[in-house]
Amino acid sequence: MDKNKVKLDKEFYARLLDSLEGYAVFTMDKAGLVTSWNKGAERLLGYKDDEIIGKNASTILLPDERKDGEQVKELNAVSHQGNIKSERWYLNKMGYTLLSSDTIYPLRDRRGAISGYVKVMRDVSDFRRSENNLLFLSEASKLLSSSLNYTKTLNRVAEIAVPQIADWCTVDLLVGKGKIEQVAVAHKDPKKVTWAKELRKKQPIDMKTNSGVPHVLRTGKSEFYPLVTDKMLAASVKTKKTLDLVRSLQITSVILVPLLVGGMAIGVITFLTTGGRKRFTKTDLRMAEELATRASLVINNAQLYKSARENEFKFKSFVRSNIIGVFIANKEGKIYAANESFSKIIGYSREELKQGKVIRWKLVPREYETREKKAMKELEQKGSTTPWEKEYIRSDGSQIPVLVTSTLIEPSSGTNITLVVDMTERKKLEQRKDEFIGIASHELKTPLTSIKGYIQILERIIREMGNERAKTLISKTNTYINRMNSLISDLLDVSKIQSGKIRFNYEKFDFYDLVTEVIDAIQPTTTKHTIICKDCIHQDIIGDRNRLEQVFTNLLSNAIKYSPKADKVTIRMTRDSKYITVGVTDYGIGIEKRHHDKLFRRFYRIEKSSNQFSGLGIGLYISSEIVNRHGGKIWVESMEGKGSTFYFKLPLKNK
Ligand code: ADP
Repeated sequence: MDKNKVKLDKEFYARLLDSLEGYAVFTMDKAGLVTSWNKGAERLLGYKDDEIIGKNASTILLPDERKDGEQVKELNAVSHQGNIKSERWYLNKMGYTLLSSDTIYPLRDRRGAISGYVKVMRDVSDFRRSENNLLFLSEASKLLSSSLNYTKTLNRVAEIAVPQIADWCTVDLLVGKGKIEQVAVAHKDPKKVTWAKELRKKQPIDMKTNSGVPHVLRTGKSEFYPLVTDKMLAASVKTKKTLDLVRSLQITSVILVPLLVGGMAIGVITFLTTGGRKRFTKTDLRMAEELATRASLVINNAQLYKSARENEFKFKSFVRSNIIGVFIANKEGKIYAANESFSKIIGYSREELKQGKVIRWKLVPREYETREKKAMKELEQKGSTTPWEKEYIRSDGSQIPVLVTSTLIEPSSGTNITLVVDMTERKKLEQRKDEFIGIASHELKTPLTSIKGYIQILERIIREMGNERAKTLISKTNTYINRMNSLISDLLDVSKIQSGKIRFNYEKFDFYDLVTEVIDAIQPTTTKHTIICKDCIHQDIIGDRNRLEQVFTNLLSNAIKYSPKADKVTIRMTRDSKYITVGVTDYGIGIEKRHHDKLFRRFYRIEKSSNQFSGLGIGLYISSEIVNRHGGKIWVESMEGKGSTFYFKLPLKNK
């Protein structure tokens, strides 16, 4: 044979082998000592040929497998079976693990006896890793979507992660403020799982640590440690005992990913490899983050579902409790669901209601139609109505007083729910109260009139006797009698308004005269205030003079009463083609905006000032009733601490 040709062939094959990207080829003798080492092997495993030739090929195995004599076993198998293909993890010189798909052949001498071995390795780490990760992710996703019991599911996910993806997989969830619970822990050895669970019980996690589960919970960001060094371990734990413990785990690589719900970390999935078997790469981190995203979605959905179920349950219990009437109607007002209480209020059976026989408008008396339309508009625009009082027409034609409020439950379709309170008893009570006020004030008025008469006789006698001290006392008595008289008259008015018995006697008169008369009567009752009439004008109007006098007196007395520190009250009159407007301005305590409309209600007084100023809270109510009945309007403009102006306007042409 041509020696030169053989040499050329050898060189050619050696170069060919070296140029194969991703392939490592090396030979061993019978004892497993490396005899040749190509460039591919150097690239893959980090050793130069002079560093490894002559050494045992088990140098590149994982420490565990080296101990177990894997190399000897493998070579024996090849000796008996010929070529062997396998896949295993290796450790390169830099400490990186890699998964290789190997073929190992025996080398034979001329007589056919085994003289050594050749191993061809192909790095499949990335490929297998991605494949494994994908398989795991799809398996885990199937599990996650299979049940709403997410703690159970997370446990199953952790279980299938070991040992392919990691040696340990744990899931911690935030339960309550600053407390975490390990809801899942998996390892291929069940004894280790029990050990880990007990360990967690004995040594709860320190929530203040700057790495690991508590830190991920705080930041909501993943943590990735491809290679955990002893230095890192020492920095992450506080006591020697814990350090010994984590050292004994032989942690190699760690990934922690947050479970995010609504931007908040509610838990952490941890993947851990041990014993130098596998180092996580960015591919693994991406997979873990993808898994966490899917798991978070499932947790979120499960929690939403749970709270929706709870809300539904609470709502149903509330409806069934029949404390108040409840019905659900569609946009057109068709009632299709109602509780027993509502059915009793309106006198239709629930069956009739279910059959859609009743529509909202059918229940509304004519006098409430405008108000009802306004409420429906409010419902459409704001999503709910302010509670308002009205009446319903019952199935027998009678009317029942109710307090109602509606809320949209499905804005897209206009479906809404209405709560209805039966006001019959309250109305009866109010009626009895009004009757009582009417009777009581009437009963008080009669003796007071007699007292007033006797006092007048007494006054005359005393004047004749010329007793000055008695004269003063009688005059004081008269002041109190007058005050009492006006209080009783006001109460009688309230009862008249309530029962619709208030009557007006219309006449034509100059409003200017009324204003000046009242000012003349009130001015002597105050020593502090000067009542100034600015821009007061003559204007004939038609109205009940006494009742309008009552309105103006009331506003003027209030202006004085509620401005104890001021020295004046100003009256202004303006007129346009239709109305005359009177404004009474004081410089007193003023009124917060939220009270402005309510002041004209019966018995309404502002609590804050009610101790300081005596009164019954009916003056403005009576005034507004009188003004309204004249076709006018009464209102206030005021700011707390800045004084108030009460206005009322009356039409120039009345009845
Ligand atoms: P009363 O003065 O007897 O309480 P009114 O019906 O006249 O009853 O007034 C109702 C409430 O309105 C008063 O209790 C007071 O809180 C408030 N109010 C009325 N007038 C004034 C005013 N000029 N300045 C401040 N508060 C006022």
